[in-house]
Amino acid sequence: MLQTPFYLIDKAKLLHNMAVIDRLRDGSGAKALLALKCFATWSVFDLMREHMDGTTSSSLYELRLGREKFGKETHAYSVAWADHEIAEAVGHADKIIFNSIGQMERFAGPSAAIQRGLRLNPRFSTSGFDLADPARPFSRLGEWDASKIMQVIDRISGFMIHYNCENADFDLFDRQLTRIETEFARLLDRVSWVSLGGGIHFTGPGYPVDDLAARLKAFSERFGVQVYLEPGEAAVTNSTTLEVTVLDILDNGKALAIVDSSIEAHMLDLLIYRQEAKLPQRGDHAYQICGKSCLAGDIFGAARFEAPLAVGDRISVADAAGYTMVKKNWFNGVAMPSIAIREPDGTIRLVREFGYQDYAVSLS
Ligand SMILES: *Cc1c(COP(=O)(O)O)cnc(C)c1O
Repeated sequence: MLQTPFYLIDKAKLLHNMAVIDRLRDGSGAKALLALKCFATWSVFDLMREHMDGTTSSSLYELRLGREKFGKETHAYSVAWADHEIAEAVGHADKIIFNSIGQMERFAGPSAAIQRGLRLNPRFSTSGFDLADPARPFSRLGEWDASKIMQVIDRISGFMIHYNCENADFDLFDRQLTRIETEFARLLDRVSWVSLGGGIHFTGPGYPVDDLAARLKAFSERFGVQVYLEPGEAAVTNSTTLEVTVLDILDNGKALAIVDSSIEAHMLDLLIYRQEAKLPQRGDHAYQICGKSCLAGDIFGAARFEAPLAVGDRISVADAAGYTMVKKNWFNGVAMPSIAIREPDGTIRLVREFGYQDYAVSLS
């Protein structure tokens, strides 16, 4: 039995998502690049590489990890490159996507040897949360003025347009893509590839994958472009749990269970986006599951169990792959969850443990 806390990646569940990605690639001709900012646990890249075309990145280190650990096609994107990064970035990348015309011009020389793209901001998105809305007022994420872009169109071969956020609504995707086709036709006619970014929840239950494939194919044929998708969450959704143990039980007007983990340290997005963790919900025994950091609001959420909880019980927190392991931190010095993989035959393999030394070397 492994010591908790640990993230447990279930390869069989990951393969389910990979099969959907295969179906989408086959039906659309689109290529799928893993967005490393969502998930960069490279121990399962051997499996993912069989079903995805490469990686995309948001920084030099992600870019390098994609090149070294995943291979295949490697896209380099960053909101802004520093002068001292650009030569190395170009060395790792098959394509480099600039966020602004200014960056593209600044690095025109060093990037001349590879294909260049530009981030196009369509000025609408599916995100209702301004923190994560690329189309928020005064957004810095990409260029949107078509006449300005037209003046530099000869220097680029493609666009990246990332505007979806966990969008499970195919009709909305379809309408918004039509809007892009209409508003930016002049630009799209001039390039050979278009990445539509991530945020399409096509591995979710009931998503019309074949309709999406057909829609992407029509887009690709209309403009004569290679389409890319950059799934992050969709690639890993539902594949991983965070395994924790109950350390204490209190009743302060509500039954509370404290576990050996923390949302601030190990599932930070729950805190940022004010969401509850996906916890067991069967039975008559209700508890609030709480983290062990000293942050008052370090609460995973409400759970129900068939029997009363006891110290030492194990709890699985579902959906702990995307935006979790990439964001874990040493707040409160809480023990960092290990990383384990459940192989398709059921055996569980520990692939990384963290200890006091890792904590100490993260500071100085
Ligand atoms: C965040 C991001 C992705 C991945 O988004 P998901 O919602 O995890 O699919 C892809 N491309 C870009 C440019 C991003 O910023």
